[in-house]
Formats: sequence, C-alpha cells, structure tokens
Amino acid sequence: MLSDYRRLVVKVGSSLLIDERGQVNHAWLKSLAGDLATLSTDDHQLLIVSSGAIAIGCNVLGINKARARLDDLQAAAAVGQIQLVHTYQAVLAAHGLVAAQVLMTPDDTENRRRFLNARRTFGKLLERSVIPIVNENDTVATEEIRYGDNDRLAARIAQLVMADALILLSDVDGLYTANPRSTENAEHVPEVSRISDAIQAMAGESNTGHGTGGMRTKVLAAGIATHAGCSTIIANGTVDNPLRALQDGGRCTVFHASGTPATARKQWLAGALEVMGSLHLDVGAVKALREGGSLLPVGVTAVVGTFDRGDVVSLKNAAGVEVGRGLAEYSSTEASQLAGCQSGQIEHRLGYRGRSVVVHRDELVLFEND
Ligand code: GLU
Repeated sequence: MLSDYRRLVVKVGSSLLIDERGQVNHAWLKSLAGDLATLSTDDHQLLIVSSGAIAIGCNVLGINKARARLDDLQAAAAVGQIQLVHTYQAVLAAHGLVAAQVLMTPDDTENRRRFLNARRTFGKLLERSVIPIVNENDTVATEEIRYGDNDRLAARIAQLVMADALILLSDVDGLYTANPRSTENAEHVPEVSRISDAIQAMAGESNTGHGTGGMRTKVLAAGIATHAGCSTIIANGTVDNPLRALQDGGRCTVFHASGTPATARKQWLAGALEVMGSLHLDVGAVKALREGGSLLPVGVTAVVGTFDRGDVVSLKNAAGVEVGRGLAEYSSTEASQLAGCQSGQIEHRLGYRGRSVVVHRDELVLFEND
C-alpha cells in the first residue's frame, strides 16, 4: 500500500519507543530501521518525527515526569535528545543509512521566511537520501509557543516537505467508532474520505502512557496533512517491523487527501488573500515559467509593493496582466536590487551570495490567461 506514496513522514511516539523502565526499546527500533532500509531501497524518501527525548532524559536524571516542572522537563529533553538521536543514528547506520537531527519550534513552520528555509534544507537532505530525525526543540519551546504534541508537529512537517503520506504509528491499529478499550462493539474504521464532526467525535479525548497525544490529536493531525494533499495513515506500531506489517496488509485507518501536495499548494497560492506586491516580467521570463522554469532575476523588469521573503507576490506580464502567483525568495528591497541582473552578478549586487531564483518553480502557480 505504501508504493503509492514516495515521500513519507513516519511519526514514532514515546509509548512505542520507550519501555516501562524509561529506556529505549532497542529490538523494536532495530526492526523499524530494517523497514526503513527496505523502503529507502524501494526509492521512498523518508523522514522520522520521533518523541522520547523527555522520557529518556527523565530516566537519566531521575526526574519524576508526572510531577516535574516545565524547566525540569526542558533540561531532561536536552539530555534525552542526544541519546535519542544517537540511537537512531546507530540503528540506521547498520543499514548504511545516514541520519540528520532537525529540531523545530513553531516559528519554523508558521513564519513564512523560516518555512522556506526549512523546506530547502529538508529538500537537500532528502535529495541525498539522508533520513531527518525531527523532534520539537523542547529545550527552548515554551508553554505558550509549542506544537504541544508530535502528531501536530509531524503533520506540519508533512505539509512543509509536501509529503505524500504521513504514517502515525500508534498503540492502536486505527480509528474506531468508539474507544475499543472501553466499548465492546466499537467498530474499526478503515477509510476516511472527509473529517466530519462524526469522525472527530469518534476520536474522543483518549490519552495513553508516555505520549501527550491520543486519537484526538491524530485526527487533528490528519486534518492538517490531508488538507495539504498528504494522506494520513494511523497504524499499529506495537509490533516489530511495523511498516512491513502495514505493507503486508495490517489493519489501519487511511485518511485520504483530496488532491496531491502540489495541487493543494497551487490552490493555496492561487487563492491567497494576502498578496503583498508584484513582480513584472519580460516576455522571456513568462515563457520560461510556462515551460516549467523558475523566475530568474534577469527576467524581472519591475518590483511593486513591499514584501518579505516568503510572502505571496503576483507575477505580471509586460502588459500588466497577472499571469500567476508565487512565493518571493527575496524581499522587495532585494528583488529591486536584483531586477534585470544576470545570475553571476547576484553576489555583487547584494553583497552576499544569495539564491539564484526570485521565485522557485515549486512555489508558483500560473494562470491560463495570457
Ligand atoms: N517532544 C517530546 C519528546 O520528545 C514529546 C511530545 C509528544 O510525545 O507528543 O519527549
């Protein structure tokens, strides 16, 4: 079933990874690494969002998690995170895979400028078949500014990297019409095409073990991801080789995305309410965009409005007709400095190295009107 999806985000919760003594369940993690190695060979691009830093750190420092204050938990996360990521590094290296650590705070996905930076970095890692191991940067995240749970973080990451599927490994094999632990005739829901109020009601308020999430946060995460064109799968992670089990037809719930990540992105760009300015393009630039290229500085004839890197800008042809929209790679001030310049002159004009494009081809939508 995973063959339909190329770029996968796999979320691993603390309750799967950490045993009752607060230690990493190595046998399970090794089996997961084996699954990842197989998927990687089959040309999937993989990202892991993993919890566990706080649980491991509390164990090392002898902190009682249930009674600890926020700053104790933050200190625990600092201790636990290095062990967590080192463990992943070791189990992946056994299969010749390279891991990278990425720690995120909400600013990195909610602030457009940082969003673009993070997206480029993830892109570079995935191009090189590196597996990013992502967690919230708990040590600096504060109560008010947190993703809060890693289901939500994983959904934001899926959106950021335009993943095709998000797999939430859980201690249950999907969504049920009622809590299967307390309701005898609870029925498993194999597929969800729309997250209706009834589906949300099924998720209830459940909470388990070490993790902060429950079914409710998983359904919320599915909402974020499917909206961004990324299908979401809730699957049982309590078995060894959980991804292989899923491939072999293991029970799960699939929340279907309505389109692809690219179409969702283009719809969002086309309908963006806040267009902060416009870039006027020469004939050659419009032609290059129509042929699937990016907008280079040389094709920009004028810059109108005030915008920052990451803002949505309108792309206009020589007659002033809007031919599309895109995310600006440069602020309006920088774009004005670069307008009309050859790529080789960018560094000279800006005084720093800069990027070669003003709007990247993956971050623009063209209208069919000229
Ligand atoms: N980021 C936290 C940790 O690594 C876990 C958050 C969660 O479980 O959702 O310990």
